[in-house]
Amino acid sequence: MAAIDIKALDPARTVVVATGNPHKVTEIEEILSKSLPHVRFVALGELGDFPDPVEDGADFFENALIKARAAVSETGLPMAIADDSGLCVDALDGAPGIFSARWAGEHGNDDANNDKLERLMSGVPDPRRGAHFHSTVVLVRGDEILRGDGDCEGAIGHERRGDHGFGYDPLFLPADTPGKTMAELTPAEKNAVSHRFHALEDLASRL
Ligand code: IMP
Repeated sequence: MAAIDIKALDPARTVVVATGNPHKVTEIEEILSKSLPHVRFVALGELGDFPDPVEDGADFFENALIKARAAVSETGLPMAIADDSGLCVDALDGAPGIFSARWAGEHGNDDANNDKLERLMSGVPDPRRGAHFHSTVVLVRGDEILRGDGDCEGAIGHERRGDHGFGYDPLFLPADTPGKTMAELTPAEKNAVSHRFHALEDLASRL
């Protein structure tokens, strides 16, 4: 059952957020409401039970666009925003990149993904452990497509630390927070340095 009736929304003042993660909706709303003051951000999941589109794009931008366009066609509302992100490791030629969520096989198995990362990076010396998270955010607004890009630079740790966050956070050491993995940061500390934050700021600067 949908929590919100699509017909009750003003199409000109609603942006559908194509994510199942409620934290992302809050983060997107906080940053973009300065540039889009009269807009309501609504999670796609609150409008109904829609199937996930196949993310078969060649890069972060294409996958974010697939998700945003799917949200527009599923809801009939003209504005939707989606992001696609992942970890890019220098010593692994940028892998896992767009395959970050399903790198070890099963989609979203963070433990297996971190096992694989630890295994592939064992024995790699510190100067070659550089990596970054990347995020591309896409806003579809009628016929218009706007994008924002952001990175969080850092390095891959030797062992997992911290209980916050998700994904590769326990093995990622942001350059902006020396000595701490991303999983050791509070949500507010992470949001201040994250790739998604930088991508949203970049998008906001284009609105
Ligand atoms: P999504 O595009 O945000 O769903 O991210 C895809 C995958 O990239 C996730 O399943 C994680 O494995 C990884 N990832 C993206 N953002 C982060 C992050 O902030 N921390 C840790 N892992 C992330």
